[in-house]
Amino acid sequence: MKIVKIEESALEKGRKKAEENKKLLDEKGIFAFDVMGSVGSGKTSIIKWLVRLLKENYKIGVIAGDLTTEVDAKRIEEEDIPVVQAHTGRACHLDPHLVSIALETLPLEDINLLFIENVGNLICPASVPIGVHKEMVVTSVTEGPYMIRKHPYMFQRANYVAINKIDLETAMNVSVEKLKEDLKEVNPNAMVVGTNGLTGEGVDKLIQCMNFQR
Ligand code: MG
Ligand code: ZN
Repeated sequence: MKIVKIEESALEKGRKKAEENKKLLDEKGIFAFDVMGSVGSGKTSIIKWLVRLLKENYKIGVIAGDLTTEVDAKRIEEEDIPVVQAHTGRACHLDPHLVSIALETLPLEDINLLFIENVGNLICPASVPIGVHKEMVVTSVTEGPYMIRKHPYMFQRANYVAINKIDLETAMNVSVEKLKEDLKEVNPNAMVVGTNGLTGEGVDKLIQCMNFQR
């Protein structure tokens, strides 16, 4: 008889690796965020603003996940902080093994706050823990009115949600208020803020909601 099984050991290995990553971050006194969201939602722009507004008070590092390019890492590097690009190749999410390799290349002694930009994707990052303390999702009005309702797993686990591109609300005919209501239904505990990644509007409010305590 042939038996076909999901490779449980691989899943288990991934879970252990994520725990190891978190333990390392804790040992080094680094608080880490996994920043997730669709392609083009504005993850990089929001991270860049977070870095700009927080770098006076925190020693920040960034891991930028992407399939093959360095575009995002270069944009964040302009803020003069340590950035490492993690290439996933054909994989559609960051996995904890790749994150652990990226961590080895960062000056961990000089960092106390880490933002990890996941690959643009609202589906599988929701089921692949990488070993962080908090999770943030950046979504935007240009993704249409149903993005939150259609991706409950991703939004259920978010601690923070930025609804980005609020300046395009009228043009897109997508209500930010309605998206906030959708989120409340899916995850009443998530903190949600409307943002504009071009001007930085709302990012200060997002920071006020953010809790950097383990
Ligand atoms: Mg990006
Ligand atoms: Zn994936």
